[in-house]
Formats: sequence, C-alpha cells, structure tokens
Amino acid sequence: MSNQSFQGGQSSDQLFARARRLIPGGVNSPVRAFRSVGGSPFFVESARGATLTTADGRELIDFVCTWGPAIHGHNHPAIRGAVAAALERGTSFGTPNPAEVEMAELITQFFPSVKKVRMCNSGTEATMTAIRLARGFTGRDKIIKFAGCYHGHSDSLLIKAGSGALTHGNPDSAGVPASFARETIVLPYNDTAALDAAFAANPGEIAGVIVEPYCGNVGFIMPDAGYLEHLRDITARHGAVLIFDEVMTGFRLARGGVQELENIVPDLTTLGKIIGGGLPVGAIGGRADIMDYLAPEGPVYQAGTLSGNPLAMAAGIAALKLLDGEPGVYARLDALGRQLRDALLDAAKQKGLALQVPQRGSMFSAFFNDAPVRDYATATKSDAKLYARFFHACLDGGVYLAPSAYEAAFLSTAHEGGAIARACEVMTKALISL
Ligand code: PMP
Repeated sequence: MSNQSFQGGQSSDQLFARARRLIPGGVNSPVRAFRSVGGSPFFVESARGATLTTADGRELIDFVCTWGPAIHGHNHPAIRGAVAAALERGTSFGTPNPAEVEMAELITQFFPSVKKVRMCNSGTEATMTAIRLARGFTGRDKIIKFAGCYHGHSDSLLIKAGSGALTHGNPDSAGVPASFARETIVLPYNDTAALDAAFAANPGEIAGVIVEPYCGNVGFIMPDAGYLEHLRDITARHGAVLIFDEVMTGFRLARGGVQELENIVPDLTTLGKIIGGGLPVGAIGGRADIMDYLAPEGPVYQAGTLSGNPLAMAAGIAALKLLDGEPGVYARLDALGRQLRDALLDAAKQKGLALQVPQRGSMFSAFFNDAPVRDYATATKSDAKLYARFFHACLDGGVYLAPSAYEAAFLSTAHEGGAIARACEVMTKALISL
C-alpha cells in the first residue's frame, strides 16, 4: 500500500526516504522498519486513545501500544496533565527530586518483593544492572537466560535473544565478544530438566537466572504449571539470584506483575514501559541486601545523568495511580483480550487455518502453528510468511499489529467499546481473506 501525503505535510514514504539517508535502516529501533513483514513503515503524527494518526492521515487501531507502555491508551489526559505540570517546574535537575521518592513508594507498595528500587532510563539499563548486581553480590560470573527471551541489548543478554534480534535473524549479535557470550548459558524456556542439568554442570558458578516469567518477545508464551516454582526453588538452593524481567509484564498483567499472579518472590525485578507512562524509563529493585550492593552504598557501579527524570517520574506516577484508582481494570482488560482471542480462533476455524492465540489479560499473540507454542523452538516453527500477510490485511483494514511474527500484541483500556468491536471485524475479515 502506498502512503499518501497528509495535510500538506510529507507522506510516510517521503519521510522514510529522508530517514533512510541519515538513520541506519531509516529507524531508531530495528523492528520499526517492517523488514520481516515487508513494505515500508508509516510515520505517526499523533496518537490518542486506541488510535494512531499517520502522516498520511490514516487512523489505525493500535495493538502495539508503543510496545507496552500505553495501557491507558495514548495521550491520556491525566498523564498529559501530570507531564505539563512537571514541565512548569523544569525538565531535569541532576539532583534528587521529590517525585523519585513517590515513584519508589508506589513500586515497592505494588511489588512486595521490591524492598529498594533504583530508577534508570530504559529496560536495557535495568536488566544490565540486574546482571551486574547478581554477579557482584554472588562473586560468580555465569548467568542463565532462556532462548527467545529478550532483555534489551546489553552484551551479556543479546544471546539467543527474542524481539527484533530474532525478527532480523541476529539473535546472537555481532560485536559481542565470544568471551562474554561464554558467561551466558542459554536454555530452552519451560524445560526443567535443562535447568537441572545446567546447575549440575556449573556448581557454584551461576550468579543468576534472568527470565521473562511470561515471555512476550518471542510472541506470547506462558509457563507450564510448576515451571516458575522450580526456577525459584533451584536458584534458592544454589545461591543464584533469580531475576524476573517484568519490563513488559509489570503493571500490565497485574499491579504486582507475574510474580503476583503466580505467587513467586524473585530476588530482583526489572521494570520499565508502563512505569514511565510513555516517557523513557527503567527500574531495578528487589531484596534490600542485594540492592545495597549498588553504589554509593556498595561496590557495584550504576548511574545516570537523567535517571529519575522529573518528567518521566510524573508520567509514570500518573500511569500507576490511574491503574490503582480503577478497580477491576485488569479484569476489564482480560475481557477485551478474550474477546479478541475468541474472534481470531472462530475465524481461523471457519477458514480451516491452524492458529494458536495464547492470551492473558492485555497481552496476546497469533502464531500460525499446528501445535501450542511453549518455547523458542516451537515459536519459530510458526508460519511467519502467513503472519506477514495477516499483518498487511489487518493494516489495510485499519488495524496495526506488531510488524513481526515474534512480538506480543497489547491492549489498553481505550480499546473498550468501538475500537475492540471494529478490530474484531477487521481481524476476522483479514484471516478469512488469507
Ligand atoms: N526486557 C523486556 C522483557 C522487554 O520486553 C524489553 C523491551 N521490549 C526490554 C527488557 C528492554 O527495554 P528497553 O527497550 O526499554 O531498553
């Protein structure tokens, strides 16, 4: 589909042509380039509620939600108001500011496993720091991660990574020294025997295990019953730090994340996305004895010019307060998720297509796959070409899904009502048209 110019401004195609000359791939984050689904990306002029307005004047119902943060929809008046008020006071101080204290109070209140928390500027920084803390605290070097889990783009974690790294065929990035990669043990998710074997083979050497407790970066995958308990148990027995990366799931699936839903207490938790209300943010928190290893209290160094930024704190606090102030918000989001899942499964049945739609709350994904998806190996057996056709059929109908077969979709409270009904229609028609 060719993108037309909007209100005399430049069209997406014109903007992309300019961008490609100056920005690698024309984008500031790889998945945005639409490489795996084909075609060229649209540029967004503005966003409100469940809707994106493109530079071409198209309105799209958005199921990417800025990759997770927009749980209240785009440009929510309470968040906009909080940022505007903070802006009046200044954009950055480089000193402690009162909003950081309020943010720490909110996070520790909602995540009881988090006794102390440090703010940073992205999920990548949060997980990078979590790994360093686990190593500093235990005095060990090796870490375990799971194939298809994405924890941002630091060296230790860009190994068999999901999300854009997987989409673009480089789950093991060039530029990561082999000597670093050797310290990262990659295991299949949902495989307790592999976990047992890794701990048995590396006695006293594993600093920590980092996991997306529900995976959202290889499509959406849930743990088998008992898997997360096993993870908690084995890490505790071996003195390894258990890190739940809840950058995506934190505040999205429950106020207290997956750890609340599954009743598991990790040692460290990483957060991002929703806690920034759409501004750049990350956080790392957990046991006080581990967190006190961070400078200036302890020997593990971490810092940030813009950490605890007053605008990001204001946006994040507003987003968290909205969630806290809406009783039943997670049940409402889950109802939306189920409505979409059921519509997709009905349409696939009508069409005779093998489709898996794992869904929990406001996260779901569509795998064109005969069998349930439980790890990286089964996820990557899905038909990514068919997903690309589905993606474009939806986009032509005005519904924007993630431009990759290996990403989760996100819902917001703003999807309630007209947007969800329209999206179900468009997605049904798109599936039938395949
Ligand atoms: N961890 C998880 C689970 C994520 O989903 C992401 C980003 N999608 C990150 C870490 C990295 O966050 P950021 O993009 O803010 O660096």
